[in-house]
Amino acid sequence: MNVSNELFERAKKLIPGGVNSPVRAFRSVGGTPFFTKEASGCRLTTADDRELIDYVCTWGPSILGHNNPAIREAVSEALSKGTSFGTPGPSEVEMAERIVRIVPSVEKVRMCNSGTEATMSTIRLARGFTGRSKIIKFSGCYHGHVDSLLVKAGSGALTFGNPDSAGIPESFARETIVLPYNDEEAIRTAFDEAGEDIAAIILEPYPANCGLILPEPTFLPFLRAICDVHETLLIFDEVMTGFRVALGGVQQREGVTPDLTAMGKIIGGGLPVGAFGGRAEVMDHLAPDGPVYQAGTLSGNPLAMAAGIAALRILEEEDPYPRLAELGEKLADGIREAALSAGIALQVPQVGSMLCLFFSEDPVMNFEQAVETKTDQFKNLFGHALDEGVYLPPSAFETCFLSTAHGDAEIDRTIEVIAAGIRKL
Ligand SMILES: *Cc1c(COP(=O)(O)O)cnc(C)c1O
Repeated sequence: MNVSNELFERAKKLIPGGVNSPVRAFRSVGGTPFFTKEASGCRLTTADDRELIDYVCTWGPSILGHNNPAIREAVSEALSKGTSFGTPGPSEVEMAERIVRIVPSVEKVRMCNSGTEATMSTIRLARGFTGRSKIIKFSGCYHGHVDSLLVKAGSGALTFGNPDSAGIPESFARETIVLPYNDEEAIRTAFDEAGEDIAAIILEPYPANCGLILPEPTFLPFLRAICDVHETLLIFDEVMTGFRVALGGVQQREGVTPDLTAMGKIIGGGLPVGAFGGRAEVMDHLAPDGPVYQAGTLSGNPLAMAAGIAALRILEEEDPYPRLAELGEKLADGIREAALSAGIALQVPQVGSMLCLFFSEDPVMNFEQAVETKTDQFKNLFGHALDEGVYLPPSAFETCFLSTAHGDAEIDRTIEVIAAGIRKL
C-alpha cells in the first residue's frame, strides 16, 4: 500500500471524511487523495515521492509559488520575535497601509483569520449599517461556510451536490435572496419586491467557485447603480480574485467601486489570513467605534502579517501580472486547440492566471449552465493528468491557478498531457 493511502486510512478513522476541508477528499473525481509532504515553486512532492505540477496553488494563495524564499525569510524573522502578542503590533499598521494603497475602494480595513470570517463580517456590518436584514447573493457564488451564504453556494458545497447545507435554519435562509448571476432583470424584480429590506448584494465579481464565470460588460456597473438607487451596500468578495486578476482585484480591472470588500488567500502569503475593508463611513460602524461587534484572538497575527506583507511587497514591486496573463493565455489557447483537433466541445474561460475547463458546446454565463456541463469528461481528464504528473483541481467546479513559479516548460508539458487526455475522452 502506498504512503498516501495508508495516511488516508488512518485519517478517516479520526477526521470526518479523512480531510479538514471537503474538496480535498477527491470525491467528485474518484480515487483517494494524495498527501503532500513538501512543496516548492510550482511543484508538490507527495508522500510517495511523486512530483506534480500544481494548478491548485493551495486554492489560490501561492501566486508566488510554494515555499517562496522571501516569504519564508520574512516569517522566520518574525518568528524570532514571538508568535503572538495579543496587543496591536507594528506589522498590522504596515499591512493596513498596503491594503488601503492597493485596493481602490478600501479606506479602512480590519484583519481576520480566513475568507469566511471576512465575508461573514461584511454581511453583519452591512446589516448593522443599513438597519436592514435581507441580502442578495448569486447561485454558484461561494463565500465561505457562513450560514446565511451557504444557500446555492459553489465550491465544495456544489461539488458534493448539496449547495444548500444541512444545519441552516430556514429562518436564516429566508433572509438570503438567491438570484442567477448576469441576470439584470431578476435583480430589478427583487428590488421592486423587497428593495427597502435589502442590506447588501454580495458577489464574487468574477465567480470562480463554480468553474470560472465572467460578467457581461454591463453587469457590474448595473449592480453599482441599482445599489446606489436603493441605498443598498455592494460587497465584492475578492477572497479569490483580489491580488490575483490584478493587484487591486476585479474592482481595479473593471473600474467598479464596491462599498465593502472581503479579502483572503493571497493576502496571507500562505498563512491563515482574511481581511475586510471599505468606505470609512461604513467601517466606522465596527466595534470599538461603532455598534457592530467583530473580534479575533489571533487577528493581525505577526507571523501571518509578515507572510502577507512579504507577498504584497513582491506583487507591488515586481508587477508579475502581465507575465502571468501571458502564461494563462498560452495554457488556455493550447487546451482549446487540443480540444478542437480532437473534436471535443470545450470552453476554457480564462482571465490572467485563472482558467477553467467546461466541457460544453456554449460559453457558460451562470451556475445553471455550469451544472449542465459534462463533468464526467472532466473527471476522466483529471485522472489522466494526475497519472502524468499534472495536478488539476479535483472538481470541475474549481478554477486552475498559475503562479510566478510556472514557466514555459511546465505550460508546454501541461498542454501535451491535457491534449493526450482529451484525445482519450
Ligand atoms: C475561498 C473563498 C472563501 C472562503 O475563504 P476561507 O479562507 O476558505 O474561509 C470565500 N470567498 C471566496 C470567493 C473564496 O474563494
